[in-house]
Amino acid sequence: MTAPSYDTDNIFAKILRGDLPCHKVYEDDATFAFMDIMPRADGHTLVIPKNASRNMLDVKQADLNAIMATVQKIAKAQMQAFDADGITLQQFNEPAGGQVVFHLHMHVIPRQDGISLRPHTGEMADNDLLATHAQALKEALEKIG
Ligand code: AMP
Repeated sequence: MTAPSYDTDNIFAKILRGDLPCHKVYEDDATFAFMDIMPRADGHTLVIPKNASRNMLDVKQADLNAIMATVQKIAKAQMQAFDADGITLQQFNEPAGGQVVFHLHMHVIPRQDGISLRPHTGEMADNDLLATHAQALKEALEKIG
């Protein structure tokens, strides 16, 4: 199958343009990180490229490298901010692969020993709680430097 082309009206493109709100954690020239609105665990963060990319099948190598560098930064910050025991990375491609939003994103999820993930695209988190978690991650990122 040939994957459909990039849709500039997807939710994450709107977030990047500032047309929709989000709880931003980090950004650099190539990437943007923000809280997942339906977190599978507290601190669940999404890392996306600023360039248009539908998923892993069309992303440019340079963007992928930049994404992974940011994923590592966020993972280290989550270990501190959430006193995590581990980190789970998830990434879905095309509807058959479980993808719901068609702008490439990596899920970075702090894990605690013995605690299962909540369902994918489950319940919306409280807005103030997401703001608190984003702030905790920003502070951890500053400490890590
Ligand atoms: P998937 O494409 O399968 O990786 O799922 C999309 C992910 O984006 C899910 O984890 C949703 O909770 C998350 N999501 C959807 N809309 C928003 C939004 N406006 N802000 C933050 N996260 C979102």
